[in-house]
Amino acid sequence: MKKISRRSFNTKLSQGIAGTAILGSVGLGYGFSPKKEKKKLGIALVGLGSYSGGQLAPGLQDAEHCYLAGIVTGTPAKEKEWMAKYNIPRKNVYNYENFDSIAKNPDIDIVYVVLPNSMHAEFCIRAAKAGKHVICEKPMAVSVAECDAIINACKEAGVKLSVGYRMQSDPYTNEIKRLVKEKPYGSVRYVSSDAGYISRGNPDQWRLNHALSGGGALMNMGVYSIQSNIYGTGQNPISVAAQEFSSKPEYFKDTDETITAQMEFPEGVVGNLFTSHNANANRLFVSFEKGWAELNPCHSYGPLSGRTSDGKEIKYPHQSQQKLQMDDFAKHIMLGTTNYAPGEMGKRDMIIVEAIYKSIKEGGKKIPLDLGDMGIVRR
Ligand code: NAD
Repeated sequence: MKKISRRSFNTKLSQGIAGTAILGSVGLGYGFSPKKEKKKLGIALVGLGSYSGGQLAPGLQDAEHCYLAGIVTGTPAKEKEWMAKYNIPRKNVYNYENFDSIAKNPDIDIVYVVLPNSMHAEFCIRAAKAGKHVICEKPMAVSVAECDAIINACKEAGVKLSVGYRMQSDPYTNEIKRLVKEKPYGSVRYVSSDAGYISRGNPDQWRLNHALSGGGALMNMGVYSIQSNIYGTGQNPISVAAQEFSSKPEYFKDTDETITAQMEFPEGVVGNLFTSHNANANRLFVSFEKGWAELNPCHSYGPLSGRTSDGKEIKYPHQSQQKLQMDDFAKHIMLGTTNYAPGEMGKRDMIIVEAIYKSIKEGGKKIPLDLGDMGIVRR
């Protein structure tokens, strides 16, 4: 088989040349290793904290189109533990200093950055420069400027980019998207989404440290509320106004505790957002002209639960959202299928986050947004 470069392979895929191949049954000669048929793409997780250990690595054990091929960690003790647990060869283990040499490793196709938010941009850009496709955890970065830098680095390197928005691959989310698009209950008039939990841990944790997190509840759970306001209306907001509430300033010294926001969408559709590090909330309510749909719980790892105004249950067999998300991205790379969570979606959400913080700073002023269709992905 003729050896093709990663960039030309990607270009060919995006032109749909390999679009009819069936993953898993047709061997794809991929990337740097023409002799070895690659049916699954190798993922390296960067940052082996609670999300990598609790959700991503287990999800990868069941994935059909990708597998856990490598790790990047700053904690030497984790190397041995992960190598033994997941059968990872020493040659696929990196630390933050030697990470760039991952460029030479044909086992690694995708680098998945699962570090504190302020470290996303640096590691995503280094991954792109190493010629690897990139998954960046949410929130994409701590500023719109950093989102742009990640998007540009991936474009320049000719690699694919996705944000770790697991809900975009979840069937419950996609049922809401279908109801919005096909209008069995008419058009959406109002959407309300709540996402929060009570933070009781170490007050010095990175999530409560602005330099590492870029913000509090809004940067953590609020991103889910922004996402579900948008997929719950099928549109981007045209303005946002926001308020901040604080009841435990001694604990939330550096980051926002609770935020509410109101979004205006085209044609008079209204959206409501609640996010908190000091209240439990996990719900989406969509009001249509002739009924409603609700997911509760909505943003957690599942099983989720949903219902509509005519008594129907929204129900799917439970699957790992992370497995579905990483498989979707692997299929996007190998077959040119849709990228359900592209970099532009992460950037758009960061534009809204910045507008919410601006509104709070300016006493709840309405901030206009000019997003067009940025980051809207239709199934
Ligand atoms: P965590 O604190 O459990 O893990 C963070 C990892 O980063 C650890 O391995 C830690 O050693 C490493 N690290 C490197 N430098 C660090 C520093 N200066 N300070 C603190 N840790 C440092 O965090 P997590 O819950 O795994 O979150 C990691 C990322 O994943 C965040 O961006 C978070 O928003 C995202 N996340 C996403 C989801 C989701 O559902 N998509 C869920 C949880 C976390």
